[in-house]
Amino acid sequence: MISALGFNSNNIYRQQKNEIIDQRYKEIYAHEKAHKNAAGSLGGSIVIEKDTNGIPVGGHVDIKMPVLDKDNPERTIQHADTVIKAAMAPNSPSSQDYKVASEAEAIKNKAKNIKNQSGQRLNLLA
Ligand SMILES: [Zn+2]
Repeated sequence: MISALGFNSNNIYRQQKNEIIDQRYKEIYAHEKAHKNAAGSLGGSIVIEKDTNGIPVGGHVDIKMPVLDKDNPERTIQHADTVIKAAMAPNSPSSQDYKVASEAEAIKNKAKNIKNQSGQRLNLLA
């Protein structure tokens, strides 16, 4: 009786745990997949992190951040746009996602300034 009860509750626990693992995994995977799809060739593989109980607790996709290219600001702007789009792709971006997007936005603004300056210089020469 006691052992039967123990067995049953253990089973229920295991079933609930598997459901939690399944559900969490799907949620996290869908979030990371949205990043990866939008990142295209700039995105790395999807990594799902689990706690010691094997329950997924988070995930990430590495993304190549733009480097300010003074000779080709347009390329930097396009790169930054892809990073921003990829960071904001999931339905509910995390605070880390917003951070990545704002970092890319800052680099984009610097590139825009360089682009505008070179445009003005060309106008003065013309
Ligand atoms: Zn995210």
